[in-house]
Amino acid sequence: MDPEVQAIYDEIMNAPAEGPFHFVSLGHQRRKPQPKPPPPAKPPKPYGSWHPTEAQLRRAARRLPSLVRVGGLFECWEFMGRRSKSGHGTISVGPRSIGAHRVAYLLWRGFFDPNLVIRHRCDNPPCCNPAHLVPGTIQQNVDDMIERGRAAFQRPGWAPPVRLGMKRKKK
Ligand SMILES: [Zn+2]
Repeated sequence: MDPEVQAIYDEIMNAPAEGPFHFVSLGHQRRKPQPKPPPPAKPPKPYGSWHPTEAQLRRAARRLPSLVRVGGLFECWEFMGRRSKSGHGTISVGPRSIGAHRVAYLLWRGFFDPNLVIRHRCDNPPCCNPAHLVPGTIQQNVDDMIERGRAAFQRPGWAPPVRLGMKRKKK
């Protein structure tokens, strides 16, 4: 046998069982995992991601006066239809329902920024009297709530929520 070939043969035969083994690249090396490009940034969603169309609002606004007990300027005009858990009147607009006081403001006072909430000067949730409604931010609404003692923590019998800090183990 050619001495050069013999040398290679010996090397292979005398190699320990666990290696070294010479792997020959056949030209199709596994591709390194490429880091994924970050997803494109989404624009921030406005307050309430769904907004009714103008036609839907017009239809709701036409229905509203028949659902409100219209009274004097200083009286609360209570909504007589369906109410939400919080006591606000709700009126269906297209596929959803929105606060009746929002539709009332739109009908009797005019357009407002849909990102704002409509606050009640009279603290009466079903009230739809446009003289009692004023647009504002969510923060302003919370400030009103605390100022006028409407917040949950200001009610008698309120206790801070108890946190145990640990999850109970499953048996
Ligand atoms: Zn009112």
